[in-house]
Amino acid sequence: MRKAYLTGIREIELREVPDPKIERGDDVRVRMHTIGVCGSDLHYYREGKIGVQVVEFPFAVGHECSGTVVEVGPDVANLRVGQRVAIDPLVVCGRCDQCLAGRENTCRNQKFLGCPGQIEGSMADYLVMPARCVFAIPDNVTFDQAVMVEPFAIGLWAQRLAGPTEGRKIAILGSGPIGLCVLQAVKAAGNCTVYATDLLDERVALARRTGADWGGNPDRQDVVAAIGEAEPDGLDLVFECAGKQETIDQAGLLLTPGGTLLVLGIPPESRLSFDMNYFRRRELRVQSVRRQNGCVEDAIEMVASGKVDLDPQITHHFTLAESQAAFDLVADYKDGVIKAMIHVED
Ligand SMILES: [Zn+2]
Ligand SMILES: [Zn+2]
Repeated sequence: MRKAYLTGIREIELREVPDPKIERGDDVRVRMHTIGVCGSDLHYYREGKIGVQVVEFPFAVGHECSGTVVEVGPDVANLRVGQRVAIDPLVVCGRCDQCLAGRENTCRNQKFLGCPGQIEGSMADYLVMPARCVFAIPDNVTFDQAVMVEPFAIGLWAQRLAGPTEGRKIAILGSGPIGLCVLQAVKAAGNCTVYATDLLDERVALARRTGADWGGNPDRQDVVAAIGEAEPDGLDLVFECAGKQETIDQAGLLLTPGGTLLVLGIPPESRLSFDMNYFRRRELRVQSVRRQNGCVEDAIEMVASGKVDLDPQITHHFTLAESQAAFDLVADYKDGVIKAMIHVED
């Protein structure tokens, strides 16, 4: 089969490799259909690492994916050949203290698809995953939407960590795919007011079109002052989806006493600082968000029933052979790209 490898910084090469085989009784072999290019893949593409996760080339990335089941191991009861599926890229051990406590997203023995040193990614014709990571999708959910289930599940988990959103004043700082997914999740969870920001005007515009009550670009205006004017008592929740010191600082200024900052962004450097003048005096909470926990089935249901609309985020389409072009487009934020999809099979 074909598999797309990162072979160096900003280099992707399509190679011919043997098909992956079912090795364990609960394995499922999936014919890949569509793969989304994620911001985290871009860190490996541009910088060759995220924090301590360093790529040893060649390595295949890709973890947002959908496809069709072509083979199931003898112990798989809930899936059959021909089913269309979404993939949860996190493989957990099911035995450690974290798994037993229902915190699978912090499993001590976890392996993540397309994460260096863990499992090679899904940018290939076929993928083998344990059945518990493979979720059937209803007929009315497209393969593209099934790819979006992965980032949306993260937005849904962030909303669940934040709690009910009814009547809440919320900022989403960073309106890339994760910020836009958080927007869908918080709006679906209650009638709330959302202020969205981004450094790219087209992302601010898309946030506005997909439900944000206000949008602003911090390069063009003082967003803290503008939001502060509309909400003089401050905000209940800030979702930091940019991974920047500036947005952490903005959160400190925007939150109301007792408010919560949820951190989803991946900063290029591992250290960020908090101005304790704000965080201490206002007794602010900081909650980091690690991927998602148990949200995949609900995410599929919310997409299928139309409770959330992720389609506006899907902006570009490529073939597997065009993977490098897809990564370059997203890496350089060109042409208004939000989510680029790589289609293995049309
Ligand atoms: Zn992702
Ligand atoms: Zn575990």
